Amino acid sequence: MLKNRLALVTGSTSGIGLAIARALAAEGADIILNGFGKDEDIERERARIAAEFKVDVRYDGADLMDVDAIERMFARIADSGRQVDILVNNAGIQHTANVEDFPRERWDAIIALNLSAVFHTARCALPAMKRANWGRIVNIASAHGKVASVQKSAYVAAKHAVVGLTKVIALETARTGVTCNAICPGWVLTGLVQKQIDARAEREGISEEQARIDLLSEKQPSIEFVTTEQIGAMAVYLCSPGADQIRGAAFSIDGGWTAQ
Ligand code: NAD
Repeated sequence: MLKNRLALVTGSTSGIGLAIARALAAEGADIILNGFGKDEDIERERARIAAEFKVDVRYDGADLMDVDAIERMFARIADSGRQVDILVNNAGIQHTANVEDFPRERWDAIIALNLSAVFHTARCALPAMKRANWGRIVNIASAHGKVASVQKSAYVAAKHAVVGLTKVIALETARTGVTCNAICPGWVLTGLVQKQIDARAEREGISEEQARIDLLSEKQPSIEFVTTEQIGAMAVYLCSPGADQIRGAAFSIDGGWTAQ
């Protein structure tokens, strides 16, 4: 379905981004992986996706907190004679603390990566998408794009803003073949969440298993994690012709979190 399309998935060296990259590759899309990690781990994943799905897979290590680095990444893509047809804005970080204790550099970093980078990649990708009259922008927001939790001021602010930015891009592209939507996952067991489970276990003096159950019970009625593959499947759907008229939507995939 996505043969000859080029997908840039930000933050795809692990977790949700890697699963989305794999899901798009399974549909025939060529992939640009992005994110941090050990060189040998990234190369192993790159080679594995290329071999398994017979698509072109490259890696670009641009630091998305650096606007110039984002622009240089898009210049490299253009120099290679390609354009980004599918942009998945997935890279994100978290920090938890009450507002009065929130370190200002953590606020700036979360806003830079979880929000501003989404604007800058879209800004760089849209001209070519509009010229081709086809494109997909899929922003990985969060249940925290719709509702709040304590101690997550920067994250909740950024994710709500991403949902708003998604709507603006969708309106500005409404008469074109370019669509922009957001996916709002609940708890997914990735490195980002494991850190919160470990912190909880330590803080409350409970086992990791108990911390995991408590974390889910608090927010996610299914008491099951969303899987990265389920988010990959949603991203593929949003790239399909069936989703041509889905514009500016924010899809919950959260075990019932935001139904409450
Ligand atoms: P993760 O930590 O496994 O992945 C984050 C990715 O972002 C990694 O590839 C990392 O290398 C990359 N990254 C970090 N800083 C970067 C930078 N400056 N430039 C480029 N890449 C950078 O986390 P995840 O859980 O897979 O999260 C992916 C996205 O999903 C995030 O936007 C997160 O907010 C969102 N999300 C996660 C959950 C969850 O429960 N895990 C729930 C809702 C939303």
